[in-house]
Amino acid sequence: MIDLKQEEKVGDISVFDEVSQYAHEQLVYCYDEHTGLKAIIGIHNTVLGPALGGTRMWNYKSEKEAFVDVLRLSRGMTFKAAISGLNLGGGKAVIIGDARKIKTEALLRRFGKFVESLHGKYVTAEDVNMSPDDMEYIAMETKYVTGLSEKVGGSGDPSPFTAYGVYMGMKACAKEAYGSDSLSGKKVAVQGVGHVGHYLVKHLSEEGAKIIVSDINKEKIREINKAFTVEVVNENELCNSDMDIYAPCALGATINDDTLSKMNCDIIAGAANNQLEDENKHGKLLMEKGIIYAPDFMINAGGLINVGLDFLGNYSRERVFKKVERIYSIVLDIIHKTKEDEIPSQEAAIKLATKRIEDIGKVKLKY
Ligand code: NAD
Repeated sequence: MIDLKQEEKVGDISVFDEVSQYAHEQLVYCYDEHTGLKAIIGIHNTVLGPALGGTRMWNYKSEKEAFVDVLRLSRGMTFKAAISGLNLGGGKAVIIGDARKIKTEALLRRFGKFVESLHGKYVTAEDVNMSPDDMEYIAMETKYVTGLSEKVGGSGDPSPFTAYGVYMGMKACAKEAYGSDSLSGKKVAVQGVGHVGHYLVKHLSEEGAKIIVSDINKEKIREINKAFTVEVVNENELCNSDMDIYAPCALGATINDDTLSKMNCDIIAGAANNQLEDENKHGKLLMEKGIIYAPDFMINAGGLINVGLDFLGNYSRERVFKKVERIYSIVLDIIHKTKEDEIPSQEAAIKLATKRIEDIGKVKLKY
């Protein structure tokens, strides 16, 4: 494990300047020559509990890119856990490299040893380019792993919980926009019908919404068409569709200058991470346009609630669904705060999350 010295630089950024900007507690650089492991574990905040967040494997162009990503992602996890009412902090890990080329049992187990060496300050889970089997290798070396597959006694696929949270959050937005939380007859455009999108369409269909879908994967379109009554549009046409609600469930940054100039909707409520291309600019633009936006890190917290309760113990799917249901009232609280303080909803959500940490920990946070 390499501890960074104060004068050490990553590219042209000072590590300690960056770390102090949002008061990250600890960064752990993990290196193993034998397996080629290069990873960074980012621990943003542990006031409420252990820093939980997935491990992502990505072929970053530079160490600087990986460093910035782990700082950004771990901070996001702090807010997500806090606003969801979990007694967990925020962390994230990134493994640098092409998963198809360097991912081996030995590398993953070496990474697991690094996680174990933190004695539970950081708890890991599945993220981009990590499979349930990969997590089992990590779990051979550390007990600080959660969300393992059901076949090894874990809570398994988090997508049904994430989708249920998005559905609840969408209903809360509808209550504010239309005076009723019923989605019956509302035109909902779901971008991406993968794991989360598929379950979301199921809820929407059961409630009688008019569903428009797009996906670049034709197999996903075939599956959704077979299971539900939906209108399929080309992925490039979705934002021109006649819709009341836009549900981004594919990629990040789909709320940007281009889409906002075309899209005509009352509500944006979806599962994708980092939906706003520019958090400040597009958050404000949504407010000016009168579009109700359910902050992504709040509305998609169902997956974290699932792995969080799995880790904290006394797990049952019923308990998870009950806690995920609370996303409805939290989204309403955020919308009210947005109006009260005249600030974008993303900012209101961060304020609420920060307040919980500050009240419980009797600390002052930088956010
Ligand atoms: P997924 O990969 O199963 O599904 C994403 C779908 O989007 C795929 O079917 C893909 O073909 C489609 N897609 C990609 N580009 C597209 C485009 N331009 N237009 C239309 N469709 C496109 O992923 P998922 O697990 O369903 O997650 C969806 C989003 O929600 C991701 O951004 C993920 O980070 C986020 N998220 C997921 C969870 C979870 O529990 N799975 C939790 C929190 C956040």
